[in-house]
Amino acid sequence: MADVVENGNSGGGTSTPAPPAAPEAVELPAELPTPSDLFHPDRVASFKRELLDFLGDLVPPGDPPWDIGLFEGYGRGLLATRDIAVNELVFVDRPILVGPRVNNYEVIFCASCCRILRRLQLCTGGCRLPICARCDFGVGPESPHAAECALIQSWQPKDAGRYSKNILYALTSIRGFLLTERDRSIVLQMEGHAPRKEMTTEIERLLRDGYFWNLDGAGPSVRYMRQIVNVLNTNAFETSRIVADEENNDHEIILRGLYILGALMNHCCRPNVRYVFDGELRMRVYASRPIRKGEQIVNNYSKILWGTQHRIIHLCFSKNFLCCCERCKDPTESGTYLGALKCVRESCPEGRLLPVNPLKISSVWRCDRCDLKMDNIKATKIQEIAGRMILNNAIKRDSHYIIDYLNDHILRFLLPTNQFTVELKLQAIKKIQADRPLAELREKEKYCLEILDVLAKLDYGECFVKGVLCYELFVTRVTLAGLLDESGIATDASNLEQLRTAWQILGPSGNRPKDLQQLVVKYGIE
Ligand SMILES: [Zn+2]
Ligand SMILES: [Zn+2]
Ligand SMILES: [Zn+2]
Ligand SMILES: [Zn+2]
Repeated sequence: MADVVENGNSGGGTSTPAPPAAPEAVELPAELPTPSDLFHPDRVASFKRELLDFLGDLVPPGDPPWDIGLFEGYGRGLLATRDIAVNELVFVDRPILVGPRVNNYEVIFCASCCRILRRLQLCTGGCRLPICARCDFGVGPESPHAAECALIQSWQPKDAGRYSKNILYALTSIRGFLLTERDRSIVLQMEGHAPRKEMTTEIERLLRDGYFWNLDGAGPSVRYMRQIVNVLNTNAFETSRIVADEENNDHEIILRGLYILGALMNHCCRPNVRYVFDGELRMRVYASRPIRKGEQIVNNYSKILWGTQHRIIHLCFSKNFLCCCERCKDPTESGTYLGALKCVRESCPEGRLLPVNPLKISSVWRCDRCDLKMDNIKATKIQEIAGRMILNNAIKRDSHYIIDYLNDHILRFLLPTNQFTVELKLQAIKKIQADRPLAELREKEKYCLEILDVLAKLDYGECFVKGVLCYELFVTRVTLAGLLDESGIATDASNLEQLRTAWQILGPSGNRPKDLQQLVVKYGIE
């Protein structure tokens, strides 16, 4: 844990410069636009103009390959205005709002620039946030933190000399006050679903626990901020920055960003795009499969290697809709059996239990060999136990333990491509580094190939996970080649193809593996 350094508090010291004026109060329009207003063609056209203006140079000259369209059952969405080839760049988006997520962080970082602070330094402005010396309020109006700090100060924080993680968690929403008029108009034209009843949002927590002397829970500022929270919760993406600490260890700081064009893509469990974030937190979206003119450009809002029932529950709770795409309708999920369970009859070792109607959470499950039926409660229970064993326990252990666990234990009661088995294999792939024994590297190679096969069956095309697996497969084979003294393994054409795919997919990412570019140069890949 870092020590706490208290930097004094607001306005007391004579050296503190006069604060810049807090931004003017922002009010919501009396009535927010309803979906039928938003989906009116004139409104869509003016919205697109504002968005293009916001994106500026990020949209190449000429007509972009996307347009905002209206889709039955979806509302707005993106569609291709021409055929788009696989791996082609579809668009680049920048965050209209970005900042900390609403979850615990393991390291302390500057709330403004994300630099990692060895010791917690609180902003001298009294906003109760950790701030580095370069971004401190005391630097003056040129500090990127000055405006948000002045705003927080205007609400008069209580306990101004103490760190508040709840103010940090609310910072992205608070930044909604600093938007320009155009950007605010764009953000307020995004859909914002009200939070579920059991959920306490970051702003409700600040109000409930009375963090400020001067923030009226019934006033216009809070009303505005609630809408920003709803828009963020409905549309924001997880993005991240890799930041080195003073010992030069890298940390990934997870942030959340509102990417409007990104958010306009509707969901499909078999998407036709992938995306990465570059070093400037811009979102770069590429076609992962060929997209035909007029086709909808779709992204996956859930985890691609989850089984259907898990995806449906996740989408229903976090995004308020039920998916019924082709993948969701197929109990075998294109023959991957990601959500299937092993038949519980001892006399039926090859049997697989599958939901009869995967679109219904309450569906009966049936064995594809012996016809054994199982009710949904029991099937859910088995998944819960498997999930707990793997995600709460095995996944945290070392690679040696995970491999033994997969070989001796898991495969006796889970299928080799069940989502939990796959999740554990992905974890093993991350943990088995070049210094591990030959046998472990062999396992890693096998896991990479197995999961690549699952992706191929799902017809996922050139997706992000494929890039990660191709990279891991390539470096593992290079290590194996060294250990076995057979350099041919590394430079074999099919292995170089893995490197080419990894570079194609991960190259534009700000978080790509550190040695990727070096490998590309060394092995002469374009
Ligand atoms: Zn900073
Ligand atoms: Zn501050
Ligand atoms: Zn689906
Ligand atoms: Zn059976």
